[in-house]
Amino acid sequence: MFKRILVANRGEIALRIIRCCREMGIETVAVYSTADEETLPVMLATHSVCIGPPRAADSYLNEDVILTTALKMGCDAIHPGYGFLSENARFAKKCEENGITFIGPSGEIIEKMGDKQTARQMMIKCGVPVVPGSAGLIETVEEAKAAVENIGYPVLIKASAGGGGKGMRKVFTPEELAGAFTTAKEEARAAFANDDMYMEKLILNPHHIEFQILGDKHGNLIYLGERDCSIQRRNQKLLEESPAWVLSEDLRKQMGEAAVKAAKAADYYSAGTVEFVLDSENHFYFIEMNTRIQVEHPVTEMLTGVDLLKEQIKIAAGRKLEIKQEDVKSEGHAIECRINAEAAGKIGQLHFPGGYGVRVDSHLYGGCEVSPYYDSMVAKIIVKGQTRLEAIKRLRRALEELIIEDLKTNAEFMNLLTYHPEFIRGSYNTSFWEKNSETIYRWYEEGLSVDDE
Ligand code: ADP
Ligand code: ADP
Ligand code: MG
Repeated sequence: MFKRILVANRGEIALRIIRCCREMGIETVAVYSTADEETLPVMLATHSVCIGPPRAADSYLNEDVILTTALKMGCDAIHPGYGFLSENARFAKKCEENGITFIGPSGEIIEKMGDKQTARQMMIKCGVPVVPGSAGLIETVEEAKAAVENIGYPVLIKASAGGGGKGMRKVFTPEELAGAFTTAKEEARAAFANDDMYMEKLILNPHHIEFQILGDKHGNLIYLGERDCSIQRRNQKLLEESPAWVLSEDLRKQMGEAAVKAAKAADYYSAGTVEFVLDSENHFYFIEMNTRIQVEHPVTEMLTGVDLLKEQIKIAAGRKLEIKQEDVKSEGHAIECRINAEAAGKIGQLHFPGGYGVRVDSHLYGGCEVSPYYDSMVAKIIVKGQTRLEAIKRLRRALEELIIEDLKTNAEFMNLLTYHPEFIRGSYNTSFWEKNSETIYRWYEEGLSVDDE
């Protein structure tokens, strides 16, 4: 097993990794930017090293400084978390070349799966259904026009290197096409330094259903159930739950097996997620694979009792997966709600919810600074109930208990969201936000407190 792991991330996921390592008897080295000096990961890691100024490009994305620090500090592995360098094939390769284990799949696997268009071609070959779309990359507006001829409106223009909902545009009419293509391409170039574009049919009002998978370096691959992540704002997830209300046992099995088939096609190992959209007729289509641990992984941990991060580390160290597909048991219902800050600054008093069936993953502490430089997510509240209704009630009371003084967050809004009839019914899909957020905002603006409902 590893002796010392460098944590190449910040915030709640850095803390999650450090906590896991401590339980496994592994030392940690937290690297941090000057903006993060007084944060929990830095305080709780065995060692910490400042690697640069706040700008991510100068610190958390600085491959050479991170690698040199790992070597200097005698680390035998690097955990990249999510975001930042987690899906960077070049960095994974550099680690390998320097004798340091990258905790994730190999650089070659990331290359195959991380590029969405390449992954799409691979899925077509291995027989996993993909959304109808362009045959390859689209370079110009003319090529985009030609591609729509075959696909038919509406379409979704997507960046092959895309992530976090960026570089994506919906197009409903021919008039919008040129503008949408150009802006999506520009956005992709700015965000990912890669403006390869492709096109998919826009599936109307689909569910976003993803499957958690685990695979080892010995060819064993299993799936650990799904998460419905259809509550999204601008293609960014806000609330995730499992099991997905729409799936029958049969469809769940079909999709889980397709997820394993997708991962097998790339000889995948490590933790990973295969994402699908599911249309109103219950047809599912592969959209992408995330070759890393995900923000919403605790949902699956709550239901299966499997510590995904621990498994990911064991796999990286070459251990055989001890869990068999038939051992995976899922019990009850889990929901995660992301708490996002709407401004930066110093917070006052902090009180996190607790009690039966509640887990809070957060790097906040009373009096800490919320930095303006990075992702706005400051906490994840994860609840589990025996039934979906119990989980909803537990989430509501957890959100009511949450106090983050002097910080504007989406917590009250999310609490109101759980009272929306469509959410309660569980019948929602990815159009939920567009359809209902105004209503919920109105409740919010009118100061309708949850007690009035
Ligand atoms: P998940 O699928 O785990 O929910 P998200 O899309 O919410 O992932 O992304 C998790 C984090 O990683 C967010 O902070 C997001 O901004 C960041 N992220 C995701 N993809 C990329 C990418 N390709 N480049 C940079 N940051 C990314
Ligand atoms: P990212 O890398 O940014 O997560 P994804 O390809 O996973 O990009 O897409 C993000 C979200 O956009 C999905 O969760 C889904 O809601 C929506 N989406 C993606 N592809 C399609 C599609 N072909 N039709 C309809 N919605 C889609
Ligand atoms: Mg995605």
